[in-house]
Amino acid sequence: MKERDRLRIAMQKSGRLTEPALDLLQRCGLSFRQSRDKLFCFGEGEPVDLLLVRDDDIPSLIAQGVCDLGIVGRNVLNEFQLTAGEESPPLAELRPLGFGRCRLSIAVPQEFEYQGPQHLEGTRIATSYPGLLAAWLREKGVNAGVMTLAGSVEIAPRLGTADAICDLVQSGGTLVANQLRETDVLLESEAVLAAAGTPPADERGDMLELLLKRLDGVIQVRE
Ligand code: ATP
Ligand code: ZN
Repeated sequence: MKERDRLRIAMQKSGRLTEPALDLLQRCGLSFRQSRDKLFCFGEGEPVDLLLVRDDDIPSLIAQGVCDLGIVGRNVLNEFQLTAGEESPPLAELRPLGFGRCRLSIAVPQEFEYQGPQHLEGTRIATSYPGLLAAWLREKGVNAGVMTLAGSVEIAPRLGTADAICDLVQSGGTLVANQLRETDVLLESEAVLAAAGTPPADERGDMLELLLKRLDGVIQVRE
């Protein structure tokens, strides 16, 4: 890995977390010049640059040392930790950021007679979070099939390919529109500042400390 002396933050290129993340970084006194390919944003004042990527790629970019920090949903961070394999270094959640709030929940069709996780025994559950779902099923002692889908999880029960789903819920509107009912919350999520377990020992570490101090100030003012 080539040595870097500037701190690099990975964030979502385009999606729910993009605007609030940029807004937060600006409140921390950072400003960026966007490059033409829009993948890399050079920091103008402080030695902090941005990498704009798909949110799913953020944990592995940190694990590989391509970026020092990431702004990503706890759901994506925890799923990576559960599925990355033992050779991947542990990552840390440095701060909860207070936006992008949602929950990862089990939902079943309206007509499903559900009285608790044991009613999922022998069912097929569709999800984009197989690691988090499998861990929860194990904890509850339930044997169920985990069907991994990249998207449109909520239509699987209507298609007959799954009996239940495990998906992100915010208002619940999508569930109602698909005649599904939320039954269990597996994870309360929001955007978090993620980093490698061990902070960089060079000047990037000093910049990280300064950034955390400013972040704590900004978050306190907002609360
Ligand atoms: P990308 O193209 O970067 O992969 P995406 O479609 O996976 O984008 P978004 O839908 O923008 O991602 O969601 C990003 C994050 O926002 C989620 O991982 C989650 O932490 C959070 N979030 C908040 N509310 C919701 C919701 N109702 N549905 C999905 N994600 C939500
Ligand atoms: Zn994604």
